[in-house]
Amino acid sequence: MNEVTSPTNVPALFGTMVFNDAVMKERLPKATYKAVRKAIEEGVTLDIDVANVVANAMKDWATEKGATHFTHWFQPMTGITAEKHDSFISPCSDDSVIMEFSGKELIKGEPDASSFPSGGLRATFEARGYTAWDPTSYAFIKDGILCIPTAFCSYGGEALDKKTPLLRSMEALEKQALRILHLFGNEDVHHVVSTVGPEQEYFLVDKEVYEKRKDLIYCGRTLFGAKPPKGQELEDHYFGVIKPRVSAYMKDLNQELWKLGVFAKTQHNEVAPAQHELAPIFTTTNLATDHNQLTMELMKSVAIRHGMVCLLHEKPFAGVNGSGKHNNWSISTDTGMNLLEPGDTPCENAQFLLFLCAVIKAVDEHQDLLRISVASAGNDHRLGANEAPPAIVSMFVGEELGGILEALENGTAYQGKPASEMEIGVHVLPRFPKDTTDRNRTSPFAFTGNKFEFRMLGSSFSIAGPNFVLNTIVADALEQMADELEGQEDFIGTLNELIKHTIRTHKRIIFNGNNYAEEWVEEAKKRGLLNLKSTPEALPYFVSDANIALFGHHGVLTESEVRSRYEITLENYCKVLNIEAETMLEMARKDILPAVTAYTRELTETALAKRALDAAISCEMETTLIAKLSALSTGLYQKIGALEDALLQSKQITEIAACATFYHDSVFAAMQELRAIADELESLTAKTCWPFPTYGDLLFSVC
Ligand code: ADP
Ligand code: MG
Repeated sequence: MNEVTSPTNVPALFGTMVFNDAVMKERLPKATYKAVRKAIEEGVTLDIDVANVVANAMKDWATEKGATHFTHWFQPMTGITAEKHDSFISPCSDDSVIMEFSGKELIKGEPDASSFPSGGLRATFEARGYTAWDPTSYAFIKDGILCIPTAFCSYGGEALDKKTPLLRSMEALEKQALRILHLFGNEDVHHVVSTVGPEQEYFLVDKEVYEKRKDLIYCGRTLFGAKPPKGQELEDHYFGVIKPRVSAYMKDLNQELWKLGVFAKTQHNEVAPAQHELAPIFTTTNLATDHNQLTMELMKSVAIRHGMVCLLHEKPFAGVNGSGKHNNWSISTDTGMNLLEPGDTPCENAQFLLFLCAVIKAVDEHQDLLRISVASAGNDHRLGANEAPPAIVSMFVGEELGGILEALENGTAYQGKPASEMEIGVHVLPRFPKDTTDRNRTSPFAFTGNKFEFRMLGSSFSIAGPNFVLNTIVADALEQMADELEGQEDFIGTLNELIKHTIRTHKRIIFNGNNYAEEWVEEAKKRGLLNLKSTPEALPYFVSDANIALFGHHGVLTESEVRSRYEITLENYCKVLNIEAETMLEMARKDILPAVTAYTRELTETALAKRALDAAISCEMETTLIAKLSALSTGLYQKIGALEDALLQSKQITEIAACATFYHDSVFAAMQELRAIADELESLTAKTCWPFPTYGDLLFSVC
């Protein structure tokens, strides 16, 4: 066994590259350490003298570990992370250098930000962007660089990143949750955070095979590919024995993640061939977000070391499952309470039911925002396919909890118990089973015993977006509830009514059946639930007056920030489709048509040679195939023209929402038609002539 993988060494390895609490305690003077803790816990800014001491200690620690540079590590609207490295060197008068790092450099950075998406928030002539240290997430060393987690904003202070609204939403949620908790007499609770454990799916393909596919290189997904003889139908990959090369990769990845303090916990094969999953132990949402970004980054870089490529696209292959991310979400207190844990005592039960009702209300009232938070060109392929929830947002609470909610609403008996027992504050809720028997894998938003699992996220997503939405909408529901409950003489009576009313008003969002079934689409329509099938269909809801007011009210996003995010998402959608269409055209024109022509020539030459030898020899196979290939090639040529036309037309549309809709309705449709013919050609053309590795080659490339 490799030395570092021995279980006894993992604790020693864990967090070695993180400037965490233990390191700070050890290396900072007591007063400085206290000031940093205060900054972390209460969000107060550090004064420059304290920052200087912290910066110096960080630099000493980092250089001892071989770091030469530092960077403000941030999460712009590209959805991935950004870094610009500066070395610690500072020249001395004798031409030598010393290593220096100041408090000013720690607290604030000024990257030239003109090339990051800003959705019109910052004109290129005002290129300055600021990065501000986020002390709630520890600094760490990656590739010899000291990385300082930061928030990124414009000159005017508007958020240009994924992290800022997330941090703001955590504050909003804390504020409202504390009001409710204090009503229930939890005076000892001072802090509330949302917690997340994101399960990350991914594909691994051999690097050599990957490099022969321009679609994978440019787009991260295959744009062509006939169905292979074997896909996932035997269900033999899910939880199957992990292949040696993959296993070595997972070991290596775990070690890299552990060094960075990421709680990588479980790993297994997923449903599709070459598909796998990694899940960490949950932590606070801001840390989980940073950790998930690091996980995705390391998944890719470690794969290269193992001669493989990690695909994080939501739908790399048609016909087999795509990849998502399950966002397990809950709320917890600094006293160790999980607010979505039903608890043992009546008081805890009532409090739990109120938080549960707040989530139900939030999800029902803000279906649009949850759908928007997972909207992207990539994820549109997945939602509503066989492996993922449809674009309709609904909630699963399970039979038992569903029964309890029904009884509460009607004031009737639950499982033979007298009605009075269902009064809040009297009845003790049963423990909810957490095992898989009470699971509904098809639900987009499922209660799983003591947390909710939001399953609509795409695999390549930053989890910041969906979580700032989740935190904000739940904060909003809690605020309305607190407003109603505070100052009431008959607290229990008001609470009872509030819970009853909430269930009655919002129960349409609860659906415990099969979300993949056709009938659900009909049923959801009857219930008045939204079914926003694509990104262009969903995004206009983002800029509604109600949503702008909601984010503004909770201090999560200003109106201009909402509008900029709307622009960025739609712009990204159009750009992705444009790149995909251009890639398709290039592959079809330069690779597929010449390949088919070559094969047709081969067949023609064979037929002619046969005839020359003996006119009686049958050339039926050759002539039939030649006819088929010729007809299909002509079809392909026409579809290339149609896609070219669609792309030309798209350039005429200036308004972003109209442009996105056109890409969806016309460009994407033309791409589908082009692909259908190309895939048919692939199935008829000799392997020796076909220009790319096939689906079979890709999906079974790693042994
Ligand atoms: P599974 O869904 O595979 O049965 P678990 O239910 O144990 O597995 O957990 C899935 C994910 O949910 C893990 O990342 C786990 O850490 C996370 N999780 C568990 N409890 C919470 C919580 N209170 N808040 C957020 N995430 C949680
Ligand atoms: Mg799960």
